[in-house]
Amino acid sequence: MMHLAEIITIGDELLYGQTLDTNSHFLSQQLTSAGFRVWKHTSIGDTREEILEMLNIATKRSHIILITGGLGPTKDDITKKTLADFFGVPLRRDEGVMAHLDRLFSSRGRIMNELNKAQADVPQNCRVLQNDVGTAPCMWLEGENFVVVSMPGVPSETRFLAEKRVVPALIAHFEPQPIFHKKIKTVGIPEAILAERIADWENALPAHLKLAYLPQMGRVTLRLTTTGKTMAEMEAEVWAQVEKVLPLIEENVYGFDEDELEDAVSQLLSQKKLSLGVAESCTGGFLSHLLTKNSGASAFYWGSIVAYSNLIKVKTLGVKPETLQAFGAVSEQTATEMAKGVREVLGTDIGIAVTGIAGPEGGTPEKPVGTVWIAYSDAQDCKAKKLTLTTNRHLNINFAANIVLDWLRVSLLKK
Ligand code: ATP
Ligand code: MG
Repeated sequence: MMHLAEIITIGDELLYGQTLDTNSHFLSQQLTSAGFRVWKHTSIGDTREEILEMLNIATKRSHIILITGGLGPTKDDITKKTLADFFGVPLRRDEGVMAHLDRLFSSRGRIMNELNKAQADVPQNCRVLQNDVGTAPCMWLEGENFVVVSMPGVPSETRFLAEKRVVPALIAHFEPQPIFHKKIKTVGIPEAILAERIADWENALPAHLKLAYLPQMGRVTLRLTTTGKTMAEMEAEVWAQVEKVLPLIEENVYGFDEDELEDAVSQLLSQKKLSLGVAESCTGGFLSHLLTKNSGASAFYWGSIVAYSNLIKVKTLGVKPETLQAFGAVSEQTATEMAKGVREVLGTDIGIAVTGIAGPEGGTPEKPVGTVWIAYSDAQDCKAKKLTLTTNRHLNINFAANIVLDWLRVSLLKK
């Protein structure tokens, strides 16, 4: 049986648009991979009426109700009192929470006032799940067909409690069927062409293996999902299918599961023992940020020159003033001189460059916003490529950096 779960986040700031509800996102991921089916997210304000209304609705339709927020010392009376009233029980002072608060306050040399002490008050029927990283207790409450868990709203506390306390307790209570996911990450192939290329394989998939296409920023993730067997059996079955589809899309696959494009490039550069220098203009260092996200980057990444102005392109990368004069900063010639220049200045095996018009201002009829030139230079090879991107600055920076990474990846595969 599939257990239905829903998430209720409490906080006026979520409704005002001041805080992005990241708790629902994280909790959904955790519940889904544990084998529960999350089917509702609701955000409500910090009022007793709204909390009661949602508890009434949610406990009638879901097995698992996770609530975050509304537990700060000044708001005790709302969520905790409302929960106690919903279950028709009084509040009790929990000794375990009191001892935890005592330790926390004395270690900080602080004295508790009545409001602080009230944090140890919980509904009579609740089981406390220890919150090691904060003062508000996490409360587990059971009804006839459901479990309600109330957690603090601070995202770091929600994460700790979900991973270490709540999801393990839910698994023990409901014994859900495990779900197995495998993600194949592709790049450089539009969703529709990808679908066409793997159509025969997809049509031959057994019915209990579900395939999803998840497109994002020029990349498409294929996700295979199955359930109903042991983890080892599911993994073996899914992997057999992955091995069948890989040869059809080999050049487009850059990794699996949580792998990112920059991870694939990092691996290839490390394996081939090649050093990289980067010359960035319109991406303003974003490409370098991606390349240095993982530890161990120093094995291949030597450095970058962010040459935003023409003067710096000339002074630090050796781009010729005549080139800029004749062709402009966003041109094949400038991009090529930037890539060659950075390779020379930094003494690396490979130099890559990106120069373009990110927008929203600065476009011309010949070079509209979104025009980007990228270039690659190594001892044997020198090439450049023009990109025609969007009118959105944020997207252009993102797309340009990721397209450079993929271009580099494909170039390295051929080396
Ligand atoms: P707690 O139960 O931990 O005391 P609270 O709701 O009573 O939480 P707040 O001060 O309102 O206390 O929230 C704590 C912090 O957590 C705030 O910065 C708030 O914006 C943030 N927060 C609350 N709910 C969420 C959520 N769903 N997603 C992301 N951040 C959240
Ligand atoms: Mg709040």
